[in-house]
Amino acid sequence: MAARILIVEDEESLTLLLRYNLEAAGYAVESVLRGDEAELRIAEEPPDLVLLDWMLPGVSGVELCRRIRARKGTERLPIIMLTARGEEADRVRGLATGADDYVVKPFSVPELVARVGALLRRANPAQAASRLAAGDLEINRETRRVRRGGAELHLGPTEYKLLEFLMLKPGRVFSREQLLDGVWGRDAEIDERTVDVHIGRLRKALSPRGQKDPIRTVRGSGYAFDETYGAG
Ligand code: CA
Repeated sequence: MAARILIVEDEESLTLLLRYNLEAAGYAVESVLRGDEAELRIAEEPPDLVLLDWMLPGVSGVELCRRIRARKGTERLPIIMLTARGEEADRVRGLATGADDYVVKPFSVPELVARVGALLRRANPAQAASRLAAGDLEINRETRRVRRGGAELHLGPTEYKLLEFLMLKPGRVFSREQLLDGVWGRDAEIDERTVDVHIGRLRKALSPRGQKDPIRTVRGSGYAFDETYGAG
């Protein structure tokens, strides 16, 4: 499952260049031109990392960075600031607003892509982990094998992806639309009810002997991997 990067940049040629290179590196990329638009998008669905231009129409990058840090749920959202200002004082100011990293334009695109990877690994070690576990449930992301209490479970490819997606953010509730985007891809033309069908299959595959259900249904919202699963 690809990490989602949001580019907030009003220079469209730069956005195109970044999008092309980040997608080639395997990331899912979204972009917006304005600071205020970015703020709405982030509140709606936080990405895994933000590339944030300093000078933006709407809300400036510095101000947006401050707001992201002040908002509950996005305090630790990884942010790399992009800026034309190379002065040492500005560099310090950029980091002081809470950005995790800072790149001065014009920058080397491969270097930026490397910094994105490094920051993502630092921010979310689970994303890079080859093994995810909760209680008696364990998935090996390299072999795509799933075990429960040591016994191998047999999941279809879509059920596997759903489980991996949910287990990467235990406790977080995903709407059917978010699951469609994350598991099937944004362009898939699939009915939201399909999600329910696959969640049903996943549950069946996870509990062949009627064991405890690690997936939580949140009425009116969607589904989550139960963060208390295996805790007692
Ligand atoms: Ca700009």
